[in-house]
Amino acid sequence: MGSIQVLPDIVASQVAAGEVVERPASVIKELVENSIDAGARRITVEFQRGGTRMMRVTDDGSGMDRSDALLCLERHATSKIRQSTDLAAITTMGFRGEALPSIASVSRFELSSRRREDEAGTLVTVIGGKIHVVQESGEAPGTKIEVGDLFFNVPARRKFLRGEQTEAANIIQQIEFLAVAHPEIAFTCLRDGREVFRLAATEDLAVRLRDLHGEEFLGKLLPVASFESQGISVRGWIAKPGEGRSDRTLQMTFVNGRIIRSPVLSLPLREACDGMLIKGLHPPAVLFFDMDPAAVDCNVHPAKREVRFRDPSNLRAVALQAARSAWGNASPSSGFTPGVGSDPLFSPIISSVWKPHDPPSQHELPVYVMESDRVEESPPPLYQHPSPSGNVGFAFSARFLGQLAGKYLLFDEQGGLLLLEIRAARERILYERFLARLTIGEIESQRLLLPEVLTLSPADAAWIEAHEKLLQKAGLSAELFGQGSIKVDAVPADAVNLSVMEIVIRLVDELRTQGASSSLDKGTRETLASSVSRLAAAGGKLPSGEEGARILLKDLLDCNLPYSTPKGRPTMSLLAPGELSRRFSA
Ligand code: ADP
Ligand code: MG
Repeated sequence: MGSIQVLPDIVASQVAAGEVVERPASVIKELVENSIDAGARRITVEFQRGGTRMMRVTDDGSGMDRSDALLCLERHATSKIRQSTDLAAITTMGFRGEALPSIASVSRFELSSRRREDEAGTLVTVIGGKIHVVQESGEAPGTKIEVGDLFFNVPARRKFLRGEQTEAANIIQQIEFLAVAHPEIAFTCLRDGREVFRLAATEDLAVRLRDLHGEEFLGKLLPVASFESQGISVRGWIAKPGEGRSDRTLQMTFVNGRIIRSPVLSLPLREACDGMLIKGLHPPAVLFFDMDPAAVDCNVHPAKREVRFRDPSNLRAVALQAARSAWGNASPSSGFTPGVGSDPLFSPIISSVWKPHDPPSQHELPVYVMESDRVEESPPPLYQHPSPSGNVGFAFSARFLGQLAGKYLLFDEQGGLLLLEIRAARERILYERFLARLTIGEIESQRLLLPEVLTLSPADAAWIEAHEKLLQKAGLSAELFGQGSIKVDAVPADAVNLSVMEIVIRLVDELRTQGASSSLDKGTRETLASSVSRLAAAGGKLPSGEEGARILLKDLLDCNLPYSTPKGRPTMSLLAPGELSRRFSA
């Protein structure tokens, strides 16, 4: 090992850049946050080729004089804190004085800035961390920062960038979050010269949300009556019960104006809708928590994505209270989806214990029955019963008894009661079929008589554009059609009962959550098959009559793993004869 040396500043900045600047979207975040801190009323973000070629943020904020325009490029140069005790109560978005030097060290960087009271502005050009040009400039008051060729001098980092489309979608997402946090600022976003959105300043957050996500999204939200508790004030919206999404990008939680993704906030929201939403779905929400800055430590993550709360349990309680208060009036009949396993009477049959293809002897098949793993806050005492034990006989000579609640098929299984959940069963069957299809081609699709044009959020539209081929494989043919709009020509063939909008949103949600890549490897095929099967199962027709019921049961038992959906939801449940008589014994 050589002798210790202090790193030259540029190298040190590049090291810091690795932490602050992971990707184009993080550059945009830092620049826009600076504009917000500078009191801007209007912020324009332009970028080219997913931000890798060029990113430019222009604001009409305070601007900087010549000496500040130079000083802000020094490491740890900040106007926002003065001493370490200031760190204890941060009220600005930035505070480390690290972002600009970091960004400038890994790009061709140009800053021009002018204070309103100054005659002329200053233009500084920095290439790979070295200042090249300092001159007067005649820009409008405010600051304009242009970042070209990100990571041009650190090829190793360039390699980590995702495709242009993905980076673009990340940037747009990032600006959306900042725009929701600051409706009082007008935002314009231009991608490769085309307008992605132009948001007028407004005092009304609902207007901002509508401008960004459409009237429909707003209609799905319930207001949370603002309240204050334990020094934390809360306001915002949460989705109506039943409007769950598998993707959490629409769960926007802000703490003191900063978007914060934390289990401290997401878990209570999830908990509040227990029994109202299927496992794996999350309620979209836009919630603002404001508290004493001293109660939040922002100085824990290089990109300030995480914070530490002085009292997380307080915050958790407040988040739970907020969600429950919004849902207090939403009645169960308002179309919500009951939770999985909420029926304590029946127990799911555990999967992959045996396969119907090679049963050793049909009448002595060991099927283990287990209790649902759902934690009940207060289990209904009426149905408390001992956990049924294993070795329940099970075969598939079952006699069809009827349909229940449009959801279950009931069979007499040698004196026991076999319940099959229609949707879960279809999901398993379709999953295995789709998976097989994908190894040779695409999932079957159905052409629409008339193509449908949908208006989506800019981030969703960008994602779709970036994943057109992948969606094609999933049976969805969609292409970008103007700003934030897409045109859909064909949808997966089995999802006949869902609207095109529902299909698109659900599919995008699921694929994005699972991080589906564009190459069609095994993992991606499984993701696609599982997403489309869930979709198709939700939008499928009910089996008709005894014939339909038998076919469904047979198809299910023909599967490789019939007892659960790919996500582990049980497909069948058996109340064994022994269990039945136990229930009625003295
Ligand atoms: P930080 O935001 O943590 O202070 P930055 O490196 O992001 O650090 O910025 C350094 C300083 O440059 C800021 O403290 C601020 O004084 C100044 N600055 C940066 N961007 C702008 C802007 N858009 N308008 C006015 N001043 C700015
Ligand atoms: Mg900053």
